[in-house]
Amino acid sequence: MTDRPFIAEVCVCCESPRLQRSPAVLMPFLGERIFGWRPVRITEDWGMRTLETGMAYPLCNSVRCADCAHLFLDMRFSDDQMKRLYHRYQDADYAALRATYEPDYLERNARLTAGITYLDQVERFLAPFTPSQPRILDWGGGRGRNTPFPDARALHHVYDIADDDPVAGAQMVDRETALSGGYDLVVCSNVLEHLPYPMDTLDEIAKAVGPETVVYFELPYENVQRQTGDAPEALTLKRHWHEHINFFSRRSVSVVLQRAGFEVIAHELVNVLQPPAESYNFFIACRKAKG
Ligand SMILES: [Zn+2]
Repeated sequence: MTDRPFIAEVCVCCESPRLQRSPAVLMPFLGERIFGWRPVRITEDWGMRTLETGMAYPLCNSVRCADCAHLFLDMRFSDDQMKRLYHRYQDADYAALRATYEPDYLERNARLTAGITYLDQVERFLAPFTPSQPRILDWGGGRGRNTPFPDARALHHVYDIADDDPVAGAQMVDRETALSGGYDLVVCSNVLEHLPYPMDTLDEIAKAVGPETVVYFELPYENVQRQTGDAPEALTLKRHWHEHINFFSRRSVSVVLQRAGFEVIAHELVNVLQPPAESYNFFIACRKAKG
């Protein structure tokens, strides 16, 4: 990826220019936090000749790649815009602004900041590939709250743009330290779906990975993709965009990992909620491909 237009012109996973587009809205929390845009009601007293009255929300396009079925927001945020969105992620200011648009958010935030409830499933999946006292780098792991093997880690590094205080035993590291390697396990969990250019991050992670390092990727298989089997109709079903700006297909996941030089050694599709509730994530263990 050489150029970085704000509105994607090619697929962010496979670089295909064969894109289909459909109108959607950017959720107003993102509009305000990133751009300072607030929704506004267009009323008769505006005196507009050609606009209808009603609520105006930030417009965008849903985009679908005809080649790899990746479904994504057309806007690709810059580093500064990403900082605005994720700085002190889920702290009190973040939650208060979000709750003005999403009234149930404070309760949700309390749940989210308490940590994931399925860490045992992640550890079960990773155990066959992980030494008993792993040296772990958590890439994009926030404060390190959801890093696996909390009782066994020989080292717990976290690299993240949120600029937050780490949990006990974790150490926030800069990019240089993260890339210096020496890890048994690199975790990149629930990160790729937030990134404007997932390939860039995967290329970076590849630099932190030695021949024996296992890399754990976890990302959602969003309902609209899963329930349509990655079919074209997912495009017009996706009408709004929030923090997940990439809805991976089975093919787009495999394309990005392969392009970044990773070889999948195990994968599972796991329901991370208690049935009958459903929310499926891909659990993927990789090593660097040889040669
Ligand atoms: Zn594609």
